[in-house]
Amino acid sequence: MDMAKQDRNKEQKRLGIALVGLGTYSEQELGPALKETNHCYLAGVVSSERDKCEQWQKEYNLKDENLYSYDDFDEISSNKDIDIVYVVLPNDMHAEFVTRAAKAGKHVICEKPMATSVEDCQRMIDACREAGVKLAIGYRLHYDPYHQEMMRLGQDEVYGKVKKLIAKNGMDVGDENQWRLDREDAGGGPLMDVGIYCVQGVIYTKGALPVSVTARFTKKQDPEKFDEVEEGLTWEMQFADGTEAFCETSYVKEQNLLRAEAENGWFELAPVAYEYRGLSGRTSDGPMNFKEVRQQALQMDDFARCIIEGRESIVPGEMGMRDVQILEAIYEAARTGKKVELHLEPFENLVEM
Ligand code: NAD
Repeated sequence: MDMAKQDRNKEQKRLGIALVGLGTYSEQELGPALKETNHCYLAGVVSSERDKCEQWQKEYNLKDENLYSYDDFDEISSNKDIDIVYVVLPNDMHAEFVTRAAKAGKHVICEKPMATSVEDCQRMIDACREAGVKLAIGYRLHYDPYHQEMMRLGQDEVYGKVKKLIAKNGMDVGDENQWRLDREDAGGGPLMDVGIYCVQGVIYTKGALPVSVTARFTKKQDPEKFDEVEEGLTWEMQFADGTEAFCETSYVKEQNLLRAEAENGWFELAPVAYEYRGLSGRTSDGPMNFKEVRQQALQMDDFARCIIEGRESIVPGEMGMRDVQILEAIYEAARTGKKVELHLEPFENLVEM
């Protein structure tokens, strides 16, 4: 993109995004997706590593004044090129940077999980409300046609009422020295990181909120590596109508499944359910066939359009907080061995679509 193109972006009312945190997800997914967006574009970057910022500057033709460090980040308030700040940092840093972005008067997208505590989520929502800016969570799967189909089949009861759900999301986490294995940085283990997609998938497929959870930690195969966070976890989510969801997450086992069993048939995403690409699904009538999309491009474009059109995101901060509440209940159930009741407040756009 050349400088003239950057100026055209402004003329075309495309909104400028600044990515905060230039790690794997920004580098491999969000940056490339921002080359495909129609309503927003990459206008700035924020990182402690100046070299990295300069590499991004070259690749995306960023202006000198649009490169920030974490220390001078608050100066972004006077930068007219930046409309949206996208926080892509380790989980425990989300709260600080979302509130700083809100105070700077910028709309915010925050990566999942929204924060490492419900209190932090509330603080983030309050800060955005006070500043009059919008807040969305990086829940990219709401923009994927395979997941939209699970929502449609479940919520519209195409195969009758959903009676049972199964959701599994696990991976080999790799390197033992990463922040994902540090309790303070991550807030927890695979449940916070990838299990959260099971919670999401179950809720939007069923189209209802769980009323209680039961859970247990899996026995650690590598207690040294997983000395601060769980290695794996299995849990159940119960719904008011008697439906139950059986879920599992892991940092040592590859798993990918979202399945619903209904009165008159079943439907599922497998063997690839929650990834960026290569999703596949079928129903009791045969395979699903959807065109692959760039989830993150659709997600960011929709947020930009929310701002332009003055509507709320379908994946708002309240949804992020609701999920952190459920994750905390699952941890409590696993720790105590007891069923934990949930009293979740519905909000607008509860399950989307
Ligand atoms: P990463 O470790 O690759 O990148 C983290 C970035 O934060 C790096 O640029 C690092 O320099 C910076 N950083 C600043 N302070 C740090 C500190 N104290 N410790 C470690 N890093 C620090 O992580 P990632 O995979 O890019 O994940 C970042 C966030 O994005 C997480 O919240 C994660 O859950 C989320 N994520 C979401 C998806 C998705 O599909 N929506 C996918 C991957 C990651």
